[in-house]
Amino acid sequence: MFNEKMHRLGSNRSVIRELFEFGKQLAAKEGADKVYDFSLGNPSVPAPAIVKESIQKQIDMPKSTVLHGYSSAQGDPDVRKAVAAHIEKCHNVLVSPDLIYLTVGAAAALCITLKALKEDGDNFLCFAPFFPEYTVFTEATGAALRVVPMKDDCKMNLQAAAKLIDENTKGVIINSPNNPSGAVYSEEEIKALCALLGDKEKEYGHPIFLISDEPYREIVYDGVFVPYLMNYYDDVVVCYSYSKSLSLPGERIGYIAVSPKARQAQELYYAVCGAGRALGYVCAPHLFQRILLDCVDAPADVAAYDKNRKLLYSSLTEIGFECIKPQGAFYLMMKTPEPDANAFSDRAKNFGLLLVPGDTFGAPGFVRISYCVSYDMIVRSLPAFKALFATYEK
Ligand code: PLP
Repeated sequence: MFNEKMHRLGSNRSVIRELFEFGKQLAAKEGADKVYDFSLGNPSVPAPAIVKESIQKQIDMPKSTVLHGYSSAQGDPDVRKAVAAHIEKCHNVLVSPDLIYLTVGAAAALCITLKALKEDGDNFLCFAPFFPEYTVFTEATGAALRVVPMKDDCKMNLQAAAKLIDENTKGVIINSPNNPSGAVYSEEEIKALCALLGDKEKEYGHPIFLISDEPYREIVYDGVFVPYLMNYYDDVVVCYSYSKSLSLPGERIGYIAVSPKARQAQELYYAVCGAGRALGYVCAPHLFQRILLDCVDAPADVAAYDKNRKLLYSSLTEIGFECIKPQGAFYLMMKTPEPDANAFSDRAKNFGLLLVPGDTFGAPGFVRISYCVSYDMIVRSLPAFKALFATYEK
């Protein structure tokens, strides 16, 4: 009667959502102050003041009826110009506004890009640990997602990638700063990946696209450099979102940028427009498109996340847990003292700690801790982490 696969997707909650729901029940039973919810990636920093000012300004405009009307399918031309100017200013790449497509966040940007690229028999690759929705988005196009196994330090496993790429590989998704590890791929790693893909393109005689999923681009610490892929490789599509950098996840605004150096860039852009149309993702929310005219260059406020990161990393390692030090995003991966991360996450619940098992991210033996939470909650959670660790010492 209905699509079995879609039914399964809709009726099975993700592990993250399960934990979140469990947390709500626990809070009702034990009190909210006994629950330390590290499950979700909802930004805890408020949107910058300029967002509110810009919303007000847009609403007060005499022509505000336009604001609530449709824009062009691919987005308001002035906004696409502003995004292109931002890319040129920050990354020194001249992208025509006619290669920009405004989207409902990074999720839609990825779905559109994958659909635009996919031909019969194609597969895509991503590196573990990875954002689990990549599987859903890729499989929705009918393509397979091949996951490159993770290395313990969360660097890219290029040797394994070389073995997984074949003549049907159409693209590689990379996500840096990374959810869930907080890793930022270095320039050296990016160059090595690009060299590998360049060799494979020659071997198979067709482009292999790099799809750069970068909602956390600006959320980095200690001045770490995040290479802009268009400067290293030609066949690049950037999927960007303002969900995290401007703390606007509910407003659903982001974009696709096709590299001007991509093979048949203009034709690829038409395929993007076609995929947007086929998926019904035309005309991203117009008010929030217009906000970008004022906010496209607004810096992300990372101070609170950095403070959380420092406290969490130093405290957890001091307790005795082994952690991967995040360089970006607002997630930290912690090795579990027993091999089964699900069992560890269940045990953590007894202490009010909601930690996401790494299996769904392709990181068995780890949990993901989202530290986009209040500093105070982290402070209050530390005795619980200590008590949890102690159960493994006995
Ligand atoms: N990609 C990654 C790595 C994410 O972590 C997220 C959201 O958490 C998304 C994409 C989706 O972002 P958006 O809210 O912009 O759709």
